[in-house]
Amino acid sequence: MPTCDLRLTNAVVLTMDERFTIHRGGSVAITGDSIAAVGADADAYTAAETVDCRGRVVMPGLVNAHTHAPMTLLRGLADDLRLDVWLMGYMMPVEREFVSPDFVALGTKLACAEMIRSGVTAFADMYYFEDAIAQAAADAGMRALCGQTVLRFPTPDATSYEDSLARARDFIQRWRGHPLIVPAPAPHAPYTCTSEILRACAELAAEFDVPLHIHLAETALEVESSRREHGMPVVPWVKKHGLFEAKVLAAHCVHVDEGEIRALKNFNAGVAHNPTSNLKLGAGIAPVARMLELGVDVGIGTDGAASNNDLDMFEEMRLAALLAKGAGGDPTALPARDALAMATRIGARAMHLDHLTGSLEPGKRADLIVVDLDRLHNVPAFDRDPNGLYAQIVYASKSTDVVDAMCNGRWLMRDRALLTLDERGLRDAARDAARRVDVFLASREVSVLQKLVAVGGAVEQESFEVQVKARIASEAHALAVLASKQVTVVRSSRYHQYDTYWSFDDPEQGWLRFREDEFLDKEGRVTDARSRLTLTGRTREEEFGAVLLFRSQHVVEKDRRRWLLVYRGVEFYLHLDRLITPATDGYFIELKSRTWSRRDAEDKAAVISELLALFGANPDETIADGYVQFAVGGRN
Ligand SMILES: [Zn+2]
Repeated sequence: MPTCDLRLTNAVVLTMDERFTIHRGGSVAITGDSIAAVGADADAYTAAETVDCRGRVVMPGLVNAHTHAPMTLLRGLADDLRLDVWLMGYMMPVEREFVSPDFVALGTKLACAEMIRSGVTAFADMYYFEDAIAQAAADAGMRALCGQTVLRFPTPDATSYEDSLARARDFIQRWRGHPLIVPAPAPHAPYTCTSEILRACAELAAEFDVPLHIHLAETALEVESSRREHGMPVVPWVKKHGLFEAKVLAAHCVHVDEGEIRALKNFNAGVAHNPTSNLKLGAGIAPVARMLELGVDVGIGTDGAASNNDLDMFEEMRLAALLAKGAGGDPTALPARDALAMATRIGARAMHLDHLTGSLEPGKRADLIVVDLDRLHNVPAFDRDPNGLYAQIVYASKSTDVVDAMCNGRWLMRDRALLTLDERGLRDAARDAARRVDVFLASREVSVLQKLVAVGGAVEQESFEVQVKARIASEAHALAVLASKQVTVVRSSRYHQYDTYWSFDDPEQGWLRFREDEFLDKEGRVTDARSRLTLTGRTREEEFGAVLLFRSQHVVEKDRRRWLLVYRGVEFYLHLDRLITPATDGYFIELKSRTWSRRDAEDKAAVISELLALFGANPDETIADGYVQFAVGGRN
């Protein structure tokens, strides 16, 4: 007689295998981390331990195919706002200020606790400091595809794209082969990456044979911009840049056409459908029924808790089923059985983890849950239609009906009590974190800037910069330094700049600036123009105002030459300005560099001092500042 470690008996075993096999009054035999046998085969095993499931359903643990686990700590922070206001006015500033390894570890533990309690045993993540997320998930005992985010601009955990790519490589090397964690690069989205980033990430994933996690075609605007900028929609564009060399997990795919769906199928890309997030952010409804029809592996995800606002996969699969019917005007679309398959086996396949999880079959890891269908909201039940069981689970069950959860052969929850996480401690810590975010936002919201953000009118771009202006002794000396090997010039341009300033009664509120730039070619002809309206935070420019700028002037006109240069590994913009209005003798330089944290700003300020000396700036006539800038407008 074969032996196993644990046998679950007297269960309705919903295997969710390809043939949707159900074993009533069946067993599951588990040895170590894996399933040894299911159904009648399992009955033959003698086990060291036996658990009587008392007629409850034993099924695969649910698979959350797309989330940002640490964002549980931003749950309910900002709701019912325009997408750009939500993202750039709240999420990104708060993330920049707070996201750290400790923050993401806490948020991930909270997410794991919530997911385990709702029957999820595996999830696909994408965030910053993914190392801490992977550790927290592994400690909680959950299976996770962890995507280290790569973006074209600085993030909470990387100063540049090269940095974040190096971090992703490091992360993959460290976690590859872990029994629970599958590491991956996560280029955030086509519109936040460059073609080089997409290609580099795909090559990285292919090199280590790990999946790649990305957001694709989430909004109509994204597709529109892709058509305008690249002459094609999103899927062909990422294909052109080698994305499908990797095993892709694409979140959203709301706005994809027939050809794109076929391409996703041909390249064996998995899709994560996030119905709540897509509805809540007004992104639209993904063509899920059509994607499934054409054979694409479409899983279901909750997305981050900031756009959902919970991680409840029971709600999510129910909504997926209902939405497909409502959107297609067809009540037969996406039946309950298929919705449950999306939330289990097909979701695992979309994550490229179906060799490990997603169904109860011998050889797969023991990732399973026990669900009680004998609750008031789920009785009676009918035996006539075998598919009634799926309808019970998808349409009437609640996440709180999950009684036990096991991942990789280890119990994570027994009888609704979490075994790997301290629920009470997590709630307290999450509340503390929320208080700190509240204080931060309250301090920001007293300014004109934040009022603009709040009314939703003026958010296109926010930047933090360290910036220094100074009068220089000689133009020729500055040009000589630029021509020398002391700095590396990446590119340069020249333009004619007109600024009009308005001040507020309260000087604390900064200035509103309308800027028009005329781009000049070598012969001084205007080749292009742009304008921008900017609200600039309070600076110390007035102290310097006797020398230049606008203490009593409302218009500043200058001839500006601009260089992007690298000095000691740091990128700077250098502006060499000659003031035309107000007419001022001499030349001024302005040095500035993007930054994302106070410490980085301090480091850069030190490098700037050296540069100032190099360019022969007068130390008595320098001003330095870091500022926040919100701008509207663009090229015209
Ligand atoms: Zn997402």
